Parts: sequence; C-alpha cells; structure tokens
Amino acid sequence: MANSSSNSEFELIARHFMRPTPNAVLGVGDDAALVDVTNGMDLTVSTDTMVSGTHFFPDVDPENLGHKALAVNLSDMAAMGAMPYWATLALTVPSVDHTWLAAFAKGFFDLAQEFNVSLIGGDTTRGPLSLTVTIMGEVPMGAALKRSGAKAGHDVWVSGNLGDAALAVAHRHGKLVLSEADYREAVMRLYEPTPRVALGQALRGMATAAIDISDGLLSDLGHICRLSGVGATVELAAIPVSSIGERHSADGPGLTAIVAGGDDYELCFTAPQNARDSIEDLTEILGVRLTRIGQVRRGKGVSLVGADGKPIKVDGRGYDHFSKA
Ligand code: ADP
Ligand code: MG
Repeated sequence: MANSSSNSEFELIARHFMRPTPNAVLGVGDDAALVDVTNGMDLTVSTDTMVSGTHFFPDVDPENLGHKALAVNLSDMAAMGAMPYWATLALTVPSVDHTWLAAFAKGFFDLAQEFNVSLIGGDTTRGPLSLTVTIMGEVPMGAALKRSGAKAGHDVWVSGNLGDAALAVAHRHGKLVLSEADYREAVMRLYEPTPRVALGQALRGMATAAIDISDGLLSDLGHICRLSGVGATVELAAIPVSSIGERHSADGPGLTAIVAGGDDYELCFTAPQNARDSIEDLTEILGVRLTRIGQVRRGKGVSLVGADGKPIKVDGRGYDHFSKA
C-alpha cells in the first residue's frame, strides 16, 4: 500500500497477484515492470476504472468482478484492433479479505490466461472498493482501428446482441421485470462480457472506424460520428437482440436498454459496402454474430428510425458520469 511497506502487504500481493509473466522481461516485485516492444508495432495503452456503486453493484461476486475488470480493458484493445499483452492492476479494498481476494484473482487470471495477458504490476491500497486496470498491447504501425475514419455511405455494424446487460441493470433498478431465468442469463452478460479481441484484429484493414459499446449504442456510435465528422442512421428493427431482448424491446425501458444501455462490450464499427462479404465471412470464422444496422451519412448525430423511416424517440442516450440529467 502507498505509505507502507509492511510484510502483510507484500504477502497479499505475492499470494494473490504474483503469477508467471511470460510476456514480460520483468514482472511483479520490482519498482517497475519491463517489457520488450516489438519493432514495427505501435504500443497501445488504455485504462479503465470501476467504482463500487457506479460500475457494479456492491454485492457483486468477486470472481465476476475480477473477470469484468480485465474484460472491459480487453474490449478497448479489441476496439483498436490491438493484441493485448500486459496489464497492471490498481486495487483499492476496504479491508483484507483473503477469500474475496482469491475469488477476484481467479476471475481476473482465468480471463488473463484465456487471452495470454500477463499481469506485470499494480498497486494495492485501502479505501472504498475500486479497481483500475491499465492494459497494454501492440498493433502494427498505422493499422489501429480509430474512431475517426467513418465516411458517408459506409455501413454501420455491430457484433453480438445488444441490451442484455442493461436489461439486467434495469431489472435491478425496478424499471422493468425480467423472469428469473432471463435475469440469471442477462446478468452474466453484465458481469462476464466477452471481449471481441479476435474480431478487432480481423477487422484491421476492413473497418474504417470502431468503438466498443460500453455506454450504449447511440452514445458510442455518436462518438464515431463526432470524430469522423459524419452522421449515422440506425434502423431499430435491424439491431440484433437476444430472445430476452426480443421479449422486452416493445416497452420503453426495454428499448432504452437495447439502444442506449451500456455494458455490452460488443464492437460497433463502420466499413465500406464492398467489405460486406468479407465481414459476413468473419461470422463463421470467428463464431460471432455480425449485423449491419445502418448507414453513415453526411451531417451530424445518430438517428434511430423505424421500418417506415420515421425517427424514434428514446429516453436516455447513454451513460454519462457527469451529465446532470
Ligand atoms: P512501490 O512501493 O514501489 O510502489 P508496491 O509495494 O506498491 O511497490 O508494489 C510492489 C510490487 O508489487 C510492484 O512490482 C507492484 O507493481 C506490484 N503490485 C502491487 N500491487 C499489485 C496488484 N494489485 N497486482 C499486481 N501487482 C501489484
Ligand atoms: Mg505502489
């Protein structure tokens, strides 16, 4: 912990967070880690913080939380088309609870192993529960997927299904009611999102802009539009949903969850029309649903339209920590 160098702190780190780090020259234990960056690659760096009560319910299962803390960061690498290699973890906990820490570490390292990511350092402090993961990876120089490349006429695509995670949150907040079985399934999408890392890499050279959907489709596609200097039109009926989403897409809160709810960690990307076949091929190669949901156009902002082409109004456009609404 900052300001202390007690044995118990070192033991805590050694017991829960020191694992082999095949990707690093030097891992946990020194003043800093050392990594060897490949020639011809850009180093890709991203950080995400999760705060109890804001990003997760305080009663969250620690193993789910460990998974999610890394998953949301892997998702940022996916959205850049990058290959993740290294992570650091800044962990603030209210007290030392070894059962909790062991479960958290299991969730974290199970996913780290699946994606061949090494935990190479971090910090451990006492305070209200929060987690910050910094992830680092590589992408061939100049080949990263940015938010700024969308052009009028390009298609808008998304991976997977949208809305399940936000439907679980809406259920917890009493805004709608999911059946017990639906809630159990939806809440796993909230706690254990699947980062689309292989998809991100496959889209290099194909997608013209990309983002991961953390704050909601309309809001995140809005970021692509703003940075690309374009607008986009999305067709509501084209948005892919699960059977849970299908059962709730007709009511107001359900619709909001699907188009404006966060936490899906699917990729939203744009691509020229001549890439359609290659993108559809990826569905089979990678086993991930890819759906064309709209078009990039001249102008500004994201409009959601019905089958009749008329605009649909949605309550709430996505999560913003600092908005007053
Ligand atoms: P310092 O005082 O130099 O910051 P620390 O005592 O904070 O060192 O950390 C000791 C070592 O353990 C460092 O290599 C640091 O990166 C690592 N470390 C601390 N906390 C964590 C954690 N939660 N996960 C992984 N590594 C950690
Ligand atoms: Mg430290």
